[in-house]
Amino acid sequence: MAAFESLTNRLQNVFSKLRGKGKVTEEDLNEAMREVRLALLEADVNFKVVKDFIAKVKEKALGLDVSKSFTPGMVVIDIVNKELTELMGGTQSKLAKANKPPTVIMMVGLQGAGKTTTTAKLAKLLQKGNSKPLLVACDIYRPAAIKQLQVLGEQINAPVFSLGDQTSPVEIAKAGLAHAKENHNDYVIFDTAGRLHIDEALMEELKQIHQNVKPDEVLLVVDAMTGQDAVNVAQSFHDQLELTGVVLTKLDGDTRGGAALSVKAVTGKPIKFAAMGEKIDALEPFHPDRMASRILG
Ligand code: GDP
Repeated sequence: MAAFESLTNRLQNVFSKLRGKGKVTEEDLNEAMREVRLALLEADVNFKVVKDFIAKVKEKALGLDVSKSFTPGMVVIDIVNKELTELMGGTQSKLAKANKPPTVIMMVGLQGAGKTTTTAKLAKLLQKGNSKPLLVACDIYRPAAIKQLQVLGEQINAPVFSLGDQTSPVEIAKAGLAHAKENHNDYVIFDTAGRLHIDEALMEELKQIHQNVKPDEVLLVVDAMTGQDAVNVAQSFHDQLELTGVVLTKLDGDTRGGAALSVKAVTGKPIKFAAMGEKIDALEPFHPDRMASRILG
């Protein structure tokens, strides 16, 4: 099953009923909104996000007096489309760029979210724009994380800085940044350690890396398959680290939509990239309008 398939099917059902109507009464609208609400909740979208979303759509639909439109169903669909886009941040949110290179990017997230893979994918994307990123291996805890980054680096022909797994991640980060400056890398991306759950030692280490490398971007990598849990994770990281954006991974799986639709509203941080597969070039800038259209089918 593809991403959002069940949500898409449910929304299409609601809208096909509306589309056929020459006249949409307030009752029709209420009924449709009840169904949209259920579809979103079932897709694991945050409860409060759903409530606000429905309220906004209703207000707009009533404000436009859709009952007077010749194609009232289409008007409602259009409103939903626009509000879904807004919910995910409205416009595309671009990667920050340092005034003076290198631009420093810190990747954070739980273990298994896809940090190491995404670090390499992001480097590849930057290379396509003629940049010269350096990757820094700060995950000294997960067995083989360093090797994994080195292998990926080789694949895309990007340098990987490592001091093995006996030096502290903070020291590795500092040395990595110095290395990037010496070698005129215009981007430096830090792959940091994740845990299965957020713990204090991990946060303390990340905070220290943050203080030392002063990142322009702190990107939280979240597995879209984890739904609303992803949003809780984002909130916990944000409380400690001041995130600048989110990368949603595994959008090629049968994710229900909860993470994609809730994360911006709950944390205030935009989704900047979406990963849609295990291959190295399966990372794209995130476009809220395209995602909304995709969800609506
Ligand atoms: P880390 O522990 O956060 O560094 O996670 P990894 O980068 O090692 O990724 C964990 C697993 O998820 C690996 O098997 C990756 O190939 C896989 N993965 C990462 N991103 C994606 C994605 O967008 N789609 C799919 N299908 N798998 C992904």
